[in-house]
Amino acid sequence: MKKPEPAEPLLDTFSFRHILVIEDSTTIIEQITRYLQELNIETVAHSPGKDALDKAVEIQPDLILLDLQVSKLSGWQILTQLKADARSINIPVIIISMVDERSHGLALGAAEYLVKPISGQQLQQVLSRVARQQADIHPAPLAPSETQPKAEQPLILLAEDNEANIQLLTDYLTDEGYRVVTARNGLEAIERATAERPALIVMDIQMPGMDGLEATRRIRADTQLADIPVIALTALAMPGDRERCLAAGANDYLSKPVSLKKLVGTIAAYLGPVKT
Ligand code: MN
Repeated sequence: MKKPEPAEPLLDTFSFRHILVIEDSTTIIEQITRYLQELNIETVAHSPGKDALDKAVEIQPDLILLDLQVSKLSGWQILTQLKADARSINIPVIIISMVDERSHGLALGAAEYLVKPISGQQLQQVLSRVARQQADIHPAPLAPSETQPKAEQPLILLAEDNEANIQLLTDYLTDEGYRVVTARNGLEAIERATAERPALIVMDIQMPGMDGLEATRRIRADTQLADIPVIALTALAMPGDRERCLAAGANDYLSKPVSLKKLVGTIAAYLGPVKT
C-alpha cells in the first residue's frame, strides 16, 4: 500500500527545531517538552539563573521560551540580557507568564507573550506566528556563497507550505543550477511573483489561506504575471485534479510524491537546460 502523505500540518512555516526553555518548574518543563515533542521539536531546559544568557549563547537555540516568574533571577532581567547581547539578540523569545504584561514584554523585545496555563494548541499557534514574523524579518538565507548560483540563472518561485518539501525541493533545484525563492501560501506567492518576476512558478495546490488553484487563477488574470509558466503540485492524484489545475491556468501538473527528476525535466521543458 502506498503510504499517504502526512496530513497538512495545521501550521506551516515551522522553522523551530531546537528550543531552549528557561523555566524552574519541572511540571511546566515536562508539559512544554511534551507539546514540543509532538511537533518534532527538541527541547533543552535550563534553570533561570545568571547563566541563562551563557546557555543561550552556547547552544544557539532557534527560539527561547522564557518564564517570567522565576525565582533566581527576574525573567525581565534575562530578557533584557538576551536582547542586549549580539550573540543572542536575533533569537526570538516567547515569554510565559502568570500575569498579562504583554505590552511590557513586547517593548523589551519579546516576540510573543503567553499567559499560563498554556495549551499545546496555543503554543503551536504562537510558534507559527513567530515563525512568520521571523520569515519576514530574516528572509530565508541563500545557499552558501561558494555554491550560490549566479544571478543570470533562472529564478524559480516555489510556493509550498510544507517545510520538509521546501527544504528538499530548494536543495535539489539549487543543485540543478536554479535560483529559488519561496512562498508559503497563495497570497505570498502572488506577492513574491510580482516582486521577483520568476522565470517559472512551482505551485503546491494545497496551502493554508489562499490555495494554489486560486493563486494560479489570479496570476493568470494579472497582465504582469500571466505569461509565467506554472507547474502545479497536488498532494494526491485524484481524478479531475489535472483538469482543475489546467482550468485554473497551470501549464503542467505533477502529483506528490514528486519525482525530483521529473520535476526538473518538466521545468527544463519550459526554461531549457540550465548552463552550469
Ligand atoms: Mn501543501
